[in-house]
This record gives sequence, C-alpha cells and structure tokens, in this order.
Amino acid sequence: MYANMKQHLQAELKAIDEAGLYKNERIIVTPQSAEIKVESGQQVLNFCANNYLGLSDHPELIKAAKKALDERGYGMSSVRFICGTQDYHKKLEKTISEFFHTDDTILYASCFDANGGLFEPLFTADDAIVSDSLNHASIIDGVRLCKAKRYRYANADMADLEEKLKEAQAQRFRVIITDGVFSMDGNVAPMDRIMELAKKYDALVMVDESHSAGVVGKTGRGVTELYGILGQVDAITGTLGKAFGGAIGGFTTGRQEIIDMLRQRSRPYLFSNSIPPLVAAAGVRAFQLLQESNQLQDKLHENVDYFIGKMKGAGFEIKPTESAICAVMLYDARLSQEFADALLEEGIYVTGFFYPVVPKGEARIRVQLSSGHEREHLDKAINAFIKVGKEMKVIE
Ligand SMILES: *Cc1c(COP(=O)(O)O)cnc(C)c1O
Repeated sequence: MYANMKQHLQAELKAIDEAGLYKNERIIVTPQSAEIKVESGQQVLNFCANNYLGLSDHPELIKAAKKALDERGYGMSSVRFICGTQDYHKKLEKTISEFFHTDDTILYASCFDANGGLFEPLFTADDAIVSDSLNHASIIDGVRLCKAKRYRYANADMADLEEKLKEAQAQRFRVIITDGVFSMDGNVAPMDRIMELAKKYDALVMVDESHSAGVVGKTGRGVTELYGILGQVDAITGTLGKAFGGAIGGFTTGRQEIIDMLRQRSRPYLFSNSIPPLVAAAGVRAFQLLQESNQLQDKLHENVDYFIGKMKGAGFEIKPTESAICAVMLYDARLSQEFADALLEEGIYVTGFFYPVVPKGEARIRVQLSSGHEREHLDKAINAFIKVGKEMKVIE
C-alpha cells in the first residue's frame, strides 16, 4: 500500500534538496550555551539560539527544576482541568501576570498552542481578525481555525492597517494581532500607532511577545514596556522556550474574561497535557531572576549595542533592529550560505537565511545575541565576520 506514497515522497524530498531547501540538523553534545560542542567534536560559539538571557543552562533554573523534580515528580499525566494542576502551575501563572501587569495567565504546552487556541474560543463569523503579514506561523494557523473574517496588512504598515480596519467596520468585534518583534529583521511592531488605530476603529489588540519578552524594553517586559503601554493590550502570547530558560511551554496573559474563556474553551488547553512541574518551577525562577535584578537585561542590551556598533564600524550593513536579532545583510542567497559555512570554520555558529524564508534578493546572516555572551565571545565573532567579509569582498 505504501509503494506509491513512497515514490511520491521521495520525489518531493529530492525536489526540496535540489532547491537547496533541505533542512539538516547539527547535533550538539553539550548544554545549550554560548560555547557549545557539536558531534564532530568542534567547539563553537553559538550565535543562533533564542537563549537571549543565557538561562538555558543557568544554575538557578537547574536548581529550581531539580527541587521540583524531587518534590513533585516527573509528569502530570493529565490535562489541567482534570488533575493536571499543581501549585507550581498556579504560581507560574501568577508570576507571569505580575511580570506583564495583566489580570491573569493561562499556560499551554507551547506558544504554538497558545496561538492555536487563542482565536476560535473568542471570535465567530461575525468578527474580524486583522493580522500582520509577517506574523508567526502559529498565529496564521490559529487564525485559520477560527471562522472570523480575515484581513492581512503589510508588515508594520500602518496605512494598510487603517485601510483594513475601515473595511472591517461592519463586523461585531475587530482584533489586531501582531508579533512584538519580527524574527527575520528584528524590527518591533509600531505599538503606539497600533493603539491609536485600535482606539479610532474600535478594535482589540493582541501581541505575541515570543521574541520580545525578556529582551525588549528596559526591564525586558517586551514591546508594551518599550511603548509605555504595559497592561493596556487585551492579550499577550509568549513562550518559555526562548528567553525564559528555553525548555518548553507557552502562555496567554491578559484580560480576566479572556483568560477565563480560554480555560473553558481553548482546545490545546483542554485536550493537551500540562507542562511538567519541573518546567513550571524553573519558569517561576526565570521570571523571578528578571524581577530581582536588571543585570541580565542590561548585559543583553550592552552586548547588542557593542556588536552592532563594531559591525557597522567595520562596514557591514545591519537591518534596523530594536531586539537581540541582528540581520547582517548580504543579499545574495549563495553568498549567505558560503559566508555562514566560512564562519563555522572560524568557530562561529550562525545561520544564513534566504528566499523563501526572507524576500528574494534579501539574503542575510541572522545573529542572535545573548547575555550569555561575554565580551571575548563578541570580539571573536566580530573578528571572524571581518576576516570572512574581507575574503568574500563584502567589506573593504
Ligand atoms: C518561537 C515563536 C513561537 C513558538 O513558540 P513555542 O513555544 O516554541 O511553540 C510563537 N510565536 C512567535 C512569534 C515565536 O517567535
């Protein structure tokens, strides 16, 4: 029975490979960190993890996780509403609400699930969802699962958003949904203008802070902090899989009734397992660390400024960014791959992105900075970029 399917899949896989789009995985044999070792034995500096605050192997998180593992066991074997809620889950929800200045929080197994279960419980065919064209795949899928009328505006284009909000005036409710930080350029959503338009056209506002929480804003509370609108958007989704320890887990935090309704009707919450106690406990510790001191956020911001300053000084073109994502523009797809390979030889692990992940002719190397990086790590990366950049005639 499988023979025809096998042939079909083999042909498709070959086409993916021939288009240069086949994704291979590099195997790491150390904890996720600034310095990692890959299976070949090569020691490299990691500049492509979402480990923005260096918490992936932080001793405080490991300690909290071990304690919870000993005290509360390994797994919950249940969804939340049957018998999958421990004190740690409630504590993490409370901690997240305090961090973002929101009413309440609901946990999911991932932010993919948070976005997948956000719209369908709240909006019907009478409503409208107005979504940024560069929003994360999980938002796109979440919107697809909902019967509301869909509108898409060009990335961060406020004139286009206004057009779409005008078109959506006949609908009962309107909601604007945007990523806080867009992952390919590192640009932030223009929340000041979005809030103005939401007010003018009577729309709710929801933001996915996955790449911005822990990173953007002086104390790392994301784009709502950056724009001085903490606690003013209706819902925020986010992940525990990036800045906050990088293990697993997601959340929606926001208005009380919205969170209450999600607990009643959100399918990934009702029909998927609880996060393990050790992840909830380490998650609490991650948010506590950020609240106890601003050291990690300050160091991240210093690292970003230092890296970008030196790279621009060397003649590289960097996309305007307000996050820890730094897009070094090379434009040519092949060059981006050769450049990344040459950097790896120098012991710097970064990823080259090209079409269709980014627009045609806009290939780049994406560097992700972390407070886990020390000055010597940054210098080594900058020097490698300069060496390879000169060899490949990207800079003089
Ligand atoms: C990473 C990311 C997600 C997915 O988060 P997971 O918790 O890994 O599922 C969702 N939205 C955005 C904007 C992201 O960057």
